[in-house]
Amino acid sequence: MNSLTRRKFLVSTGLLSAAACLAPRSLFAESENIVLTARKRAETAQITVQTLRGNITALIGSGGNIAVLTGPDGKLIIDSGYATSRARITDALAKLGPDPIKHLINTHWHFDHCDGNEWMHEDGAHILAHENTKKHLATSTRVEGWNFTFPPSPAGAIPGEVFAEEKTLHLNGATIALKYYGPSHTDGDVSAYFAEADVLHCGDTWWNGHYPFIDYSTGGNIKGMIKAAESNLAKATDKTIVIPGHGKIGGKTELTEYRDMLVTIYGRVATLKKEGKSLDEIVAAKPTAAYDSKWATPFINGDVFAKLVYDGV
Ligand SMILES: [Zn+2]
Repeated sequence: MNSLTRRKFLVSTGLLSAAACLAPRSLFAESENIVLTARKRAETAQITVQTLRGNITALIGSGGNIAVLTGPDGKLIIDSGYATSRARITDALAKLGPDPIKHLINTHWHFDHCDGNEWMHEDGAHILAHENTKKHLATSTRVEGWNFTFPPSPAGAIPGEVFAEEKTLHLNGATIALKYYGPSHTDGDVSAYFAEADVLHCGDTWWNGHYPFIDYSTGGNIKGMIKAAESNLAKATDKTIVIPGHGKIGGKTELTEYRDMLVTIYGRVATLKKEGKSLDEIVAAKPTAAYDSKWATPFINGDVFAKLVYDGV
């Protein structure tokens, strides 16, 4: 793929922002920081609407996967995508019914999941998130992997309500159980489970079919990612519809494959590290080799993922 095609591919799969965290600096001109590029590209990204179960729908294509619960209490939305997708997300939401946006939940603070917070709040959303998500959005926060320091978000984008461990909502005939994972992809990841419909949104603790980014800059680590994957698996039955932060909607089978991949690669890297191997030696030993054809992306390839694991072993 040439670089333009590659970027189109990444935007189309919602991976641009996350993948970029690990891009060698030389891939991008200084004037073309990956965060700014991702926002710009999202202006033209198509939004796909996927009906899941009951009154729950997924909007796919603007950063992290978005879930929408419709009904007389107003729309409840999980994650707000890129601000630059506003027009397309608004169109997609209008097709789901006339109810105004009333509630927005952020699965974590990353810009591909929270960039749309400000406009959704303007349109009427009360924003709810983990307390650490609010902390990162409210202050200047640097992500080393993206070579980018996010300024404090505008007041309207900052969650108006936070919780520490769990919180349950009853809206539109649904019970929505929110639960903190503990430090995993960041230090503020929460799951959202629609109990009656049996639909689980995992945020970025699950990347279906792609090596995940782990944001060590704001408290993420591989051990927490494995723990979160186990917790997602414990919640899912064969009937549960599971929404990943990135990648296709899936279920228990795909979650299991993902957990096994994380555990196996972690084990290999940990063994090599215990033997006293350096990072370079471990990367050269290709601990991810058996998984690369399925899980590697143009930016988070096996070597990069091995390093992400190494950093937390
Ligand atoms: Zn993320």
